[in-house]
Amino acid sequence: MKVLILGGTSEASALASALAEGGVPALFSYAGRVKAPRPQPLPTRIGGFGGVAGLGDFLAEQGITHLVDATHPFAERMSRNAVAAAHRSGIPLIALTRSPWVAQAGDRWEKVVGIEAAVKALAGPPQRILLAIGRQQLAAFAAQPRHHYLLRLVDAPEAPPPLPHHRVILDRGPFTLAGDRALLRAHGIQRIVCKNAGGEGAVAKLTAARELGLPVVMIERPAPPARREVHSVEAVLSWLHQSSPHKAERGV
Ligand code: NAP
Repeated sequence: MKVLILGGTSEASALASALAEGGVPALFSYAGRVKAPRPQPLPTRIGGFGGVAGLGDFLAEQGITHLVDATHPFAERMSRNAVAAAHRSGIPLIALTRSPWVAQAGDRWEKVVGIEAAVKALAGPPQRILLAIGRQQLAAFAAQPRHHYLLRLVDAPEAPPPLPHHRVILDRGPFTLAGDRALLRAHGIQRIVCKNAGGEGAVAKLTAARELGLPVVMIERPAPPARREVHSVEAVLSWLHQSSPHKAERGV
């Protein structure tokens, strides 16, 4: 058995720890989006594979027997490529995902599909907005230039985002409720724009928004490709155990 984990999430890191502890041969893969990715207890490679064909070649070269897609729910292209490459290579694939956040009483969410719809939702007078969508799609918000955008990013942008009024703060989750409440208050935030990532690490801003009565533009997830999905590290371990020809030896 040799597992490839497609990472970039806290769930992927938790799985890497479990495989390392269980002595399961595995590799970890990062896209390379952040300057200093969290070190993993597994051999780690960084960078794109070169599409479906590149990933297929990598699976064959490395003798990968099981592919685990533990990427972020908005990493749409990687997830589609993983399904296609696993299918072509005849390698079993499982996705380790987290449930989306669900609005609770007191939430003021406007649900939108896609970044363009989120941009359109910001029509109206200037506001102070926490734009918590990562780095890659900030330029789309140049179409709503009157707002002041607070950008929370892992790394400083290489070029200034094309937003006339913005401030960057560098921080990396998991975020706390006390911290996010203080952040929203200190910056006079009037609205939040975010992706429905799910999970615990970034949910604090939504709890703080509920407390403060702030509206949230919630970008819904893209539809995932057809694939087997589980929501816990234990479920991945059990899948590996069931599909391993040497399961008695592995202790997974
Ligand atoms: P994406 O649009 O689905 O992927 C674009 C390309 O990046 C892929 O086609 C692949 O390149 C490469 N790639 C993505 N994930 C990879 C991985 N784990 N290992 C190796 N190559 C990878 O993905 P994205 O939205 O840019 O996200 C990039 C990474 O950041 C993902 O790993 C994801 O888990 C993490 N992340 C994303 C978000 C988000 O909001 N999108 C948030 C937090 C973390 P090739 O085609 O060349 O193989």
